[in-house]
Amino acid sequence: MPPLVQAQATLTHEEIRRYSRHVIMPEVGIEGQRRLKAAKVLLIGTGGLGSPTALYLAAAGVGTLGIVDYDVVDESNLHRQVIHGISTVGMSKLDSAEKRLRDLNPDLVIHKYNEPFTSDNALRILEPYDIVVDGTDNFPTRYLVNDAAVKLGKLNVYGSIFRFEGQVAVFGHADGPCYRCMFPEPPPPGLVPSCAEGGVLGILPGTVGTMQATEAIKLILGIGEPLVGKMLLYDALEMSFTTLKVRKNPNCPVCGVPHEQIELIDYEQFCGMPAHDRSGFNTPTTTVDGMRVMNVRQLKARLDKEPETLVLDVRDPHEWAIAALDGSLRIPKGDILAAKDAVLAGRAKPRGRHPRMGKGHRPELAVVLAPKRLTHPAPRRFWLRGGAVGLGATCRALPLPALSHPLPD
Ligand SMILES: [Zn+2]
Repeated sequence: MPPLVQAQATLTHEEIRRYSRHVIMPEVGIEGQRRLKAAKVLLIGTGGLGSPTALYLAAAGVGTLGIVDYDVVDESNLHRQVIHGISTVGMSKLDSAEKRLRDLNPDLVIHKYNEPFTSDNALRILEPYDIVVDGTDNFPTRYLVNDAAVKLGKLNVYGSIFRFEGQVAVFGHADGPCYRCMFPEPPPPGLVPSCAEGGVLGILPGTVGTMQATEAIKLILGIGEPLVGKMLLYDALEMSFTTLKVRKNPNCPVCGVPHEQIELIDYEQFCGMPAHDRSGFNTPTTTVDGMRVMNVRQLKARLDKEPETLVLDVRDPHEWAIAALDGSLRIPKGDILAAKDAVLAGRAKPRGRHPRMGKGHRPELAVVLAPKRLTHPAPRRFWLRGGAVGLGATCRALPLPALSHPLPD
């Protein structure tokens, strides 16, 4: 693949000294270093993936980084967001990242976008850049990044992480698929948990984000084989890497149509989920396989209106230790399933299905609500989105009933 960026910039003596270990490699050389200096890379997010990506791209001598983030540094994220630190907790993530990046590369041009990446601003923000590196943690933004990159003909270095596993690919190349070719439709709301809900090994985004930065540098220099038409799967527990071939879908609704016909849609609506906890997205009747899902704000409203509501907490005890509501009935999902199996042993297959407690179902869906008066013919049941962390985060802001355990700050 030819280099994505022309070697327009010139290097100072100081830069030649600083990048001497690059420059002595024929695959990079002075020309490659000039390409890196001329390159403009947009990073969506300075979280777990964006941290190592930004650090390594800046350290490698990439000349211009655009950074989109509108969050603040939070102590509970420092186990993976290594560009930030204790000294910048509470500071805007953009300012915190800038401080660190300037120390690493004083010549770096940084453009900060202190706003959510949305259908309204995506094209304006992305347009001046050569490559976008997707460090998002949610489906609406991931689809938006893909569609905007395809529309503008930009390469999109994708990465995603969950618990112990990660994925990396390069989308948006004419010879390869886009994210939508692989995943035309988002998963049902609530089915795939976020890192906040399911957890993530802190070092995992370090590995995956570093691989994204590697792909970006290879594309800028035009060296090696980028992950175009391929997806790398990484399993940290097995320490295994698997590369899948992925094909372009000729009928893809995005890369299968002329660029000018691609329209950026309402991605929160498309995915039925918020792009961010702070987005204010508040659809009360999203469902997971027919069972309604409510968020903690809706739970609060329900408890205010109907104090008799029974809250059955089916999370595991280690999640109760993070945050739990007083007065809730606590039975771990596993105990319920075991009791059900014991009762049903030897009987014919029961009619109907157990309400959404199948093996492997998400622990995020933690609380089932039903009226205490069981005269109601069909108790109204909801899953509570967010699980332990969602409950904890929102209880700080909402006067929910007394908590049995102190909340983590
Ligand atoms: Zn496509």
